[in-house]
Amino acid sequence: MRRRGFIPCLTFLRWLLALLPATALFAQVAPFPDDPACTAEDRRFMARAYELARSSVAHGNHPFSALLVKDGRVIFEYENTIYSTRDLTQHAETGLIGKATQNFDPETLAACTLYASTEPCIMCCGAIRWAGIRRVVYGTTSSQLTRVVELTLPPKSPAVHPPAILECREIFARTEPAVKVFGPLMEAEGLAIHLGYWPHDPVLVAILARTKKE
Ligand SMILES: [Zn+2]
Repeated sequence: MRRRGFIPCLTFLRWLLALLPATALFAQVAPFPDDPACTAEDRRFMARAYELARSSVAHGNHPFSALLVKDGRVIFEYENTIYSTRDLTQHAETGLIGKATQNFDPETLAACTLYASTEPCIMCCGAIRWAGIRRVVYGTTSSQLTRVVELTLPPKSPAVHPPAILECREIFARTEPAVKVFGPLMEAEGLAIHLGYWPHDPVLVAILARTKKE
C-alpha cells in the first residue's frame, strides 16, 4: 500500500522537475505589452495562431504557425513543418504562402491579414512581400525568441540563430507597396510556448549534450 502511494508522488516530482527549467527561464524573459493598435478580432485570431503553434510541436516541428484571414474569416492556416518535411524553408509563413498562392488570386491575397504566432523572419518577410499581403499581425517578438534560445543554451554554445535579428517592421518599411505591421500581441502566451519547447528541441538538445561532454 505504501508503495502505491510512493509512485504517484515520484511522478509528481518528475513533472515538477520538468517544469523547473521553463519556470527559471520565464523569470528572465518578461513579455512585451500588446501593440495598442491591435483589435479584439486580432486577439481572437492570435489565440488560434498560438493553438496551431502548440499543434506544430505536437506534430514534431518548431512552435510556429500562420493564418490567412479575409473579411473576418480564416481562409488558410499552416504550421511549421521543417522537421517532418526535412525542408528548412518550410516555416509557417512560407509554407502557407506557397499553398495559398496556388489557391487564391492576387486580389484575394492583397485583401488578407496574415497572422503569425511569432514575428516573421527575413525569409518569410520576403515571401509575404512577394505574395502581395498588405497587413501582418504577429504574436511574439523575434528578439524575445532569440533570448529564449540563448538562455536555453550554455553561454559559450555556437549560435543557432544569427546574432543580428532584423525586425519585420524594419524590412517592410523598405518594401513597396507598404505592408502594415501590428504586434506584439498576447506575448505571454507565445513565450510560454517557446519556453516549454526550446529546451527539448532536437538541435538544442544535441548541442547541450555535446557541451556536457566537453
Ligand atoms: Zn520564417
